[in-house]
Amino acid sequence: MRIGILGGGQLARMLALAGYPLGFQFTVLDPSGEACARPLSDFLLADYGDPGALDSLATQTDLVTYEFENVPAEAVTRLDAHTHVFPPPRALATARDRLPEKRLFRQLGIETAPFAPVATEEELATAVAEVGLPAILKTRTLGYDGKGQVVLRPGDDPREAWSRIGRVPAILEGLVEFEREVSLVCVRGRRGESRFYPLSENRHREGILRFSRSLHEDPLQPLAEDYARRLLERLDYVGVLAIEFFQRQERLLANEMAPRVHNSGHWTIEGAVTSQFENHLRAVAGMPLGDTSARGHAAMINLIGEIPRRDALLAVPGLHLHLYGKSPRPGRKLGHLTLVEEDPRQLKERLQRLARVVPGLEEDLP
Ligand code: AMP
Repeated sequence: MRIGILGGGQLARMLALAGYPLGFQFTVLDPSGEACARPLSDFLLADYGDPGALDSLATQTDLVTYEFENVPAEAVTRLDAHTHVFPPPRALATARDRLPEKRLFRQLGIETAPFAPVATEEELATAVAEVGLPAILKTRTLGYDGKGQVVLRPGDDPREAWSRIGRVPAILEGLVEFEREVSLVCVRGRRGESRFYPLSENRHREGILRFSRSLHEDPLQPLAEDYARRLLERLDYVGVLAIEFFQRQERLLANEMAPRVHNSGHWTIEGAVTSQFENHLRAVAGMPLGDTSARGHAAMINLIGEIPRRDALLAVPGLHLHLYGKSPRPGRKLGHLTLVEEDPRQLKERLQRLARVVPGLEEDLP
């Protein structure tokens, strides 16, 4: 079976790495000749809106999936008319726009921070009165890794925030004083069966995920699974879905969902019986899903902007190194590291050792 992937970044690369042992082949479409999934695929170098390239992708493959949610809606409509697209286009349309996404959470009884739509400067004033300050003004679409967001505090000029995000459709969200950020990665197959990974605890800095670890029998796991099940069923979902939450005591407030494999699930490659990448492929291909149980206590560290000396990293016992084959640039995700240990104290010790080699890790550790 040949699987088409829209987007050729590290997520597509790790999907391909997981898929070859199962006998899958891959065609990837990406507008950049340097896309890091290129060496692992038949590669179509074209814009996502290129009708000829989209038709080639549809005819060359048995089904199409995607590695990011900012795929143009017309591209998905065109593909959907000719082939199977998973996760379903409706899930993509909801997840790529923060307003319908947050409204869906609310409709399904999933808690969120207070929010209000902002389409004009006047509407921003109404939203500030409704949501209160401090708050975050976020563009409805195309925001990622903290981009397209401005924090508004009491005394700030809302007009300046509105101009900083480019006066585009947005939402204003109350700033949540959370205790932790957690995410749930789950998967649903073509026959409607679903599985859930253990929750991940996530640390962000400057809007970018730095560190994730798997949580062992966390008391909030059942609530997160209940919320996830509502979304999976409402969207008639197929594939891996990730949901990011803010935790306040016993409550989970949904921040956003990603209709794809997710950075906070990278630890599942070595830390779960079946990785999120393999399970996404099994799901979209209509195959039985794999076991999502953890193999131990896992931690994942993103390598951002620079890669520490490989020798020093590999000298840490048990360390798994994943480099994406990208050239270094500030703020760019270049790879990740995973540690999996039976004993959580052992994991802590190894992370402390790793912190001597990875700049900034010390401050990201829980
Ligand atoms: P997002 O692009 O929505 O995932 O936001 C990136 C990061 O900004 C989140 O992971 C949080 O660390 C922070 N953030 C976003 N929205 C809020 C909020 N409403 N309250 C507090 N922190 C937030």
